[in-house]
Amino acid sequence: MSALRMVILGRQGSGKGTQSLRICEAHGCIHVSTGDMLRSAVAQGTELGLQASKIMDAGGLVSDEIMNGIVAERFSHSDISEHGVLLDGFPRTVDQANALERILGSLSQDLRIALNLDVPIEIVTQRMLDRRREDDTPEAIRRRLELYETQTAPLLDWFTSRDLLSTIDGVGTEDEVFARIDAAIGARS
Ligand code: ADP
Repeated sequence: MSALRMVILGRQGSGKGTQSLRICEAHGCIHVSTGDMLRSAVAQGTELGLQASKIMDAGGLVSDEIMNGIVAERFSHSDISEHGVLLDGFPRTVDQANALERILGSLSQDLRIALNLDVPIEIVTQRMLDRRREDDTPEAIRRRLELYETQTAPLLDWFTSRDLLSTIDGVGTEDEVFARIDAAIGARS
């Protein structure tokens, strides 16, 4: 079977991270989370980490130029071509989606599916307030959700126009949601 290349989209707090781990466990693909990559740069105190930490704390977006570079570099590692990938947190803007298309094109790879994990704003807001992550202040949460609507939601049309989008109802137990995701991936395999 050829390596699966997938994207998962969804509001912050939609359960993307949890479901991503399960998807990659089931399909053997590499989970590439740009949020995790940035948090690890912050923890290591690298130049990138120093730049990113203020932006992340304020709920902003790291620049497309930086993010596109990080992802292009990650795709140059052979594990992705061998095992496939689930991109979590990227693309987050139309510019990043165009960059992804270029990166994949240059490697003669294509995407199988873009999963849109759909959870209403009121539910994700409550989930984020409950989980109390350090960067989850009410102001940062509001800012991130606002950026999702303005910057990331347009990607739904971008993926739809390429016939790649599958919207999954993200409200339910972890198992229920995973079963829906797995069915959507199966339907495109
Ligand atoms: P969440 O889904 O809770 O926002 P992530 O782990 O995906 O968490 O990302 C955490 C933060 O990292 C984001 O709020 C943003 O500041 C930054 N970030 C992650 N991915 C990107 C990206 N593709 N473009 C710009 N900023 C990003």
